[in-house]
Amino acid sequence: MLIILNGNAREIEISHLRNILLRGGSQFKEVNFMGENIFLLFNGTPHIAREEIMKTGIVKKILDIKHPFKLSSREFKSETSVILVGSVAIGGSEPVIMSGPCSVESEKQIWEIAAEVASKGAHILRGGIYKPRTSPYSFQGLGVEAAKWIGSAGKYFNLPVVSEVMEINDIETLYSYVDIFQVGARNMQNFKLLKELGRTNKPILLKRGNSATLNEFLMSAEYILSEGNGDVILCERGIRTFVEYTRNTLDLNIIPAVKGVSHLPIIIDASHATGRCDLVNPVTLAGLTAGADGFIVEVHPRPAEAFSDGEQSLDFNQFGQLIEDWKLIREPVLALRNKQSAKRIKVA
Ligand code: PEP
Ligand code: MN
Repeated sequence: MLIILNGNAREIEISHLRNILLRGGSQFKEVNFMGENIFLLFNGTPHIAREEIMKTGIVKKILDIKHPFKLSSREFKSETSVILVGSVAIGGSEPVIMSGPCSVESEKQIWEIAAEVASKGAHILRGGIYKPRTSPYSFQGLGVEAAKWIGSAGKYFNLPVVSEVMEINDIETLYSYVDIFQVGARNMQNFKLLKELGRTNKPILLKRGNSATLNEFLMSAEYILSEGNGDVILCERGIRTFVEYTRNTLDLNIIPAVKGVSHLPIIIDASHATGRCDLVNPVTLAGLTAGADGFIVEVHPRPAEAFSDGEQSLDFNQFGQLIEDWKLIREPVLALRNKQSAKRIKVA
């Protein structure tokens, strides 16, 4: 149950409501979200009678949301959230293009890639600074030096930067160089990290864990939202299946499924989903056709020499081809997006 307060509720009245809930044995969290003061009552604790809550005179509305996720649900907010990063809108009418290397390897490398992807129309520059690697003996990222390089390349080419934070300390280190904090698949349920990111004022790119269900994915988003930060961009990056010919399997289903129940934008990452550069382009286009709000791809000038994820990185020609192919289907895909979002608004 969500209790949304009137904007003019006074502290003394709020404290009265708090006491009613506590006396009744309810546990709850007080959240300031999208301009609203909300009491979120916890599952499993007694819910107080609506009449008693309404009697306080400070309640705008009470929402009983059927999903386990609340603030990210369309029942809470029916229109898709549009997240602004500089002049880039994520979740609006135009799908967003994020690209760059798996890892920032040198100043020269990131500037070369930034120049290329900017000239081809990318909106956001990606690049790993801290790398979560399966093996402790694989390249682990260059840390704060790399942050400075990607930060200045991004500024120069007017591309906001997205990069992964692996632990709470990384937030402060990267804060002035990075515009979107990425949470990697391996950290999707690092709840302490998610809560800390929820207290920042930067957008979060939340990747789906490789065996996470839709509910688990959105509950992780909820950890960020319930700390006050509503700017969460979901990312489907493939799940673990029995197939052996790709690194993961892109779960295309989750795109329309998320769109049906949540207002958060969702993008796709066919690089990590396939692990194969020859499959990245068709799978990316499939994701856009299914309604994704954008895509993220790994790009490297010489993939064979990449420090990480070379097999799945597009070279400059392949990236150019992807952008050309996207332009071929862009108009009908945009028409489809408009039609589907109009239908959603009507249903809501
Ligand atoms: C990455 O983006 O380079 C990465 C490690 O992604 P994921 O967390 O999806 O594996
Ligand atoms: Mn990678």
